[in-house]
Amino acid sequence: MSSDPKSPSSADSFDVIVIGAGPAGYPAAIRAAQNKLSVACIDEWKNHDGTATFGGTCLNAGCIPSKALLESTELYHRAHEEFAVHGIKLEGIGLDLAQMQKRKSGIVRAMTQGIVALFKAAGVTGLHGHGRLLPGRKVEFTAHDGSRRTLSARHVVLASGSAPMPLSSTPFKPPHIVDSWGALEFEAVPKRLGVIGCGVIGLELGSVWRRLGSEVVIIEALPDFLAFADQQLAREALRQFKKQGLDIRTGAKVSGATVSGNAVEVTYSDAKGEQRVSVERLVVAIGRRPYTKDLFAPDTGVQLDERGFIKVDEHCRTGVENVWAIGDCVRGPMLAHKGKEEGVMVADLIAARYGEMNYKVIPFVIYTAPEIAWVGLTEEQVKASGRDYKTGTFPFLASGRARALEQTQGFAKIVAARNDDEILGVHIVGPFAGELIAEAVLAMEYSASSEDLQRTIHAHPTLAEAVHEAALSVDKRSIDSINR
Ligand SMILES: Cc1cc2nc3c(=O)[nH]c(=O)nc-3n(C[C@H](O)[C@H](O)[C@H](O)COP(=O)(O)OP(=O)(O)OC[C@H]3O[C@@H](n4cnc5c(N)ncnc54)[C@H](O)[C@@H]3O)c2cc1C
Repeated sequence: MSSDPKSPSSADSFDVIVIGAGPAGYPAAIRAAQNKLSVACIDEWKNHDGTATFGGTCLNAGCIPSKALLESTELYHRAHEEFAVHGIKLEGIGLDLAQMQKRKSGIVRAMTQGIVALFKAAGVTGLHGHGRLLPGRKVEFTAHDGSRRTLSARHVVLASGSAPMPLSSTPFKPPHIVDSWGALEFEAVPKRLGVIGCGVIGLELGSVWRRLGSEVVIIEALPDFLAFADQQLAREALRQFKKQGLDIRTGAKVSGATVSGNAVEVTYSDAKGEQRVSVERLVVAIGRRPYTKDLFAPDTGVQLDERGFIKVDEHCRTGVENVWAIGDCVRGPMLAHKGKEEGVMVADLIAARYGEMNYKVIPFVIYTAPEIAWVGLTEEQVKASGRDYKTGTFPFLASGRARALEQTQGFAKIVAARNDDEILGVHIVGPFAGELIAEAVLAMEYSASSEDLQRTIHAHPTLAEAVHEAALSVDKRSIDSINR
């Protein structure tokens, strides 16, 4: 470490160099600086207009722009479909998609510029350009203007993220066949939109354009809808999405797509044989894969697993001394908050502080309407483990707050162990599920029992009461719903 911890011995030498300034890398850099280490954070991201920004996929092309559009389109949908029920009369509701996109871009700009300010305040040196790890913890930095220099560090953190997975039968052909980023930037509402992949991203993007009037067909190869989620939750979500007009076709394998004029002809096969569907735009959202292109020289010793993820242990050590890897480029769910906590853990471990990550309580959220959120094990997983369990559910229909919101679809469900009552999983489909799940995450982090939640006072009338009542229902003691 340099003698003055915040001033590197030379402009090219740091305690820590982080490659990647997405939601894994930039928090790692900030925490390392908070730990009084000298830090550089390198990122090569360029937006479609050529501007170089920090924030990675999440801020530029993922979590943030998608949530901005989900919010705007939900308001548009509610103005059309729900305001009249509230007694609000609106006439001439129109869509200004250019303004909607401008608002989204403004949010992205504010958030990414926020990282510049955070770096400055923390004393992190932010560098726009490509970083490549060389042996001996040297990092070759190539700035966007092509100039090159070699930096050195005591520790290097690889946080290079992920990229959309291509589908070999259906290569990207913008503007007709696009990835998720392309689907966030449409300048007109497609009359008919095809989405390949009914995962989190496919459902969110499908919802955005459906609410603006697109006929949306989602084609999913797996036979079950949201196969990775609790199936009671998945069934309820599917029912709601179908009611909204999302045409979800499961067990359907896409074999190709051809573009002619402004139409994309998609062919797929399902149980009934070969099928075709014609759409104006097609989004390929079949998942993401780790991105490690040109990230490290072959003789550094960093290794990839068979799926292309950088190999790490439970503390994100790569096995090469003082080289760490975090976020989407390593095993585990590809989620911004998972990467952030790994970044914080690694930065604390580097500073010889306590650092640990509880992979068992990572929340998952799908920001559709209704929202879907869960943490811990599904009922199916608990059943398969052989552990005896009990469940409690509470429908939002019985929640005064949900009724006031006119959002009574869905329920909160808790799965708890029968022997010691420990909460094993919480599953919510309904209004603000993504916010409500935080209480469940905290409860599980502290190994709470359902009785702990039962004995915790929840304000009335709030949506959080649904979680409280679901906990009571685990022991058939719900007050506001009939115990079954
Ligand atoms: C449409 C969409 C919506 C999403 N919504 C959510 C959501 O709501 N919640 C959620 O938790 N997750 C969401 N995700 C996933 C989330 O975006 C990722 O999990 C998250 O961005 C991963 O963070 P990361 O820092 O590991 O990688 P990234 O965000 O991908 O950042 C990696 C950065 O590293 C840079 N980089 C790579 N290699 C180099 C190199 N050699 N030199 C310099 N720089 C390099 C890249 O330019 C990039 O900026 C969404 C994703 C998409 C696509």
